[in-house]
Amino acid sequence: MKNFSTFLCLMCLFVVSCKSDKSSTNTAVVETSTKAVVAETVSESEGTLGIHPISHATMVLSYGEDNIYVDPTGGKEAFESFAAPTIVLITDIHGDHMDIETLKALDLSTTVVIAPKAVTDQFPKDLEPKTIVTLNNGDQTTLNSYAIEAIPMYNLRAEALKFHPKGRGNGYVLTIGSERIYISGDTEDIPEMRNLERIDRAFVCMNLPWTMTVDKAAEAVLEFKPKTVYPYHYRGKDSLSDVGKFKRLVNQGDANIDVVQLDWYQ
Ligand code: ZN
Repeated sequence: MKNFSTFLCLMCLFVVSCKSDKSSTNTAVVETSTKAVVAETVSESEGTLGIHPISHATMVLSYGEDNIYVDPTGGKEAFESFAAPTIVLITDIHGDHMDIETLKALDLSTTVVIAPKAVTDQFPKDLEPKTIVTLNNGDQTTLNSYAIEAIPMYNLRAEALKFHPKGRGNGYVLTIGSERIYISGDTEDIPEMRNLERIDRAFVCMNLPWTMTVDKAAEAVLEFKPKTVYPYHYRGKDSLSDVGKFKRLVNQGDANIDVVQLDWYQ
């Protein structure tokens, strides 16, 4: 994997050097179809936020020396290019979010794992991160300099209520530097999403039958108006959702919202 790491570093340099042409804006967006790295400067005086899609709902957010793993799945190989996590955020009990085998394989000796009760209840005794913090809908905590708020995530359509009952799983709003980052988890276009305020970056799911259509996702995004939105978690039962349509719908409603397509599926 050494070559792959080198490739990642080269891509990182490439992306950062591209960005330096746009240094007049703090929120310049790098659109890329690569799976490698999106590095974006939060502000001149703060660090660089790295956004690293791993797969589907799984990602790493890096900031300074810290790595925040979100819904780590895919075994420890999926995280070979990253240092051990400072924080692990888990949204729900399903295997594409809570993967006990991956958690056991990772070095969590210095890690704070944050998850809802439905998830922490399922942790085996031999899973021993530094700390486990149970956070349920509406709870918040601050770790190091990061504020983390648990947001509800649930289904609305009658035929989908069984997938994600209200109160079980968490979406999150995470504050990194001056940025508020929303990670939707598995949800439909619930009022708690539509009413979000001051979101700089939003990761929004859109897949059927488990979450919502691209139309509903676009409608909700147009209501809470994040500066940047990343479609993620869009592999449906039969195919990938039409994220191109999502981008069109969002930008027809508001051309100022950057829709950034990362490569979540390879
Ligand atoms: Zn899911």
